[in-house]
Amino acid sequence: MSDQGDAARRIEELRALIRRYDYHYYVLDDPLVDDAEYDRCMRELVELEARHPELVTPDSPTQRVSGAPSEAFAKVIHREPMLSLANAFSEGDVREFDRRVRAALPGEDVEYVCELKIDGLAISLRYENGEFVQGATRGDGELGEDITRNLRTIRVLPLRLPERVSVEVRGEAYMPKKVFLRVNRERDEAGEQAFANPRNAAAGSLRQLDPRVTARRGLSLWMYAAVLGPDGTVPGGPGPFRTHEEILKWLDTLGFPVNPHRRVCRNLEEVFQFLNEGDRLRNTLPYDIDGMVIKVNNLDQQNRLGATAKSPRWAMAYKFAPEQAETRLLTIEVSV
Ligand code: NAD
Repeated sequence: MSDQGDAARRIEELRALIRRYDYHYYVLDDPLVDDAEYDRCMRELVELEARHPELVTPDSPTQRVSGAPSEAFAKVIHREPMLSLANAFSEGDVREFDRRVRAALPGEDVEYVCELKIDGLAISLRYENGEFVQGATRGDGELGEDITRNLRTIRVLPLRLPERVSVEVRGEAYMPKKVFLRVNRERDEAGEQAFANPRNAAAGSLRQLDPRVTARRGLSLWMYAAVLGPDGTVPGGPGPFRTHEEILKWLDTLGFPVNPHRRVCRNLEEVFQFLNEGDRLRNTLPYDIDGMVIKVNNLDQQNRLGATAKSPRWAMAYKFAPEQAETRLLTIEVSV
């Protein structure tokens, strides 16, 4: 068979495999393979599509946010899409990201904010006049699942803010490592199947029809974004905001949990220094992280860089090299 024919066949194979993995991970909260294996398939697909751009289709998993919302929940239409992040697996990938950013902003200074990449699931919280009114999962990025009642049970979630602002705040829900071990011990004693890792335990616990189950699962949150209007403000709030870091500080003053392990970096060397620190910090944290996120700090620059259908061009997830983390139970191999 021709090179083109081989590539087309392998691309179809990989897409089918990834869709199957996505279904088990996002819909059933029960992954078939570990993240490193998933990332390997995705990377092979990205590379094949880059060599054969004529074979790229808009429905390829490389082009869209994965994770269909479940029929079990009411749907929430996201006012602004909840996107994924482009991945970096090496120093070279991070340098390439920086080169692309600077090429799109010729002659401008670029500052980055580096944060921990929390290994949980993305959620959005909507407040009207300071009151929590609706919470949702990311779903497929356009349509999420309404999990308001479940989110209300999370203790660190502010039900009322000190200011009468109307704002959508986004972040990550996660299960602390200690809680994960406790929940799995209890499941084991009850003869139930253990969760594969804290991320899937968090997703399975939040996407419950009975909020009392969620309440018993000890979930927590780190919030890292607010959806602003076109003028950089939110109704009833301060602003206009100029930087991502200003938003994080404001969220902190409103009482949201905002992760303190972050740094504004003025150049790539400072970014690499923080990435190395994060790698060392990883095993000392009471929750799982699977990498670091690098974001352009200036919001005007973010807007000008824009986004693809899948991820913003102003941010990148630097993924740690795979390791058997202490809270991961096992790698399940399947033949497909
Ligand atoms: P992603 O998890 O690689 O990155 C995007 C997500 O990072 C965001 O949606 C957000 O939820 C999260 N995030 C955490 N901390 C953040 C921060 N500080 N700022 C911004 N975002 C932050 O991308 P994805 O599309 O959600 O999922 C793809 C990844 O999920 C894969 O790379 C793989 O690791 C895993 N996955 C695994 C399987 C499997 O079968 N094992 C299947 C599907 C996906």
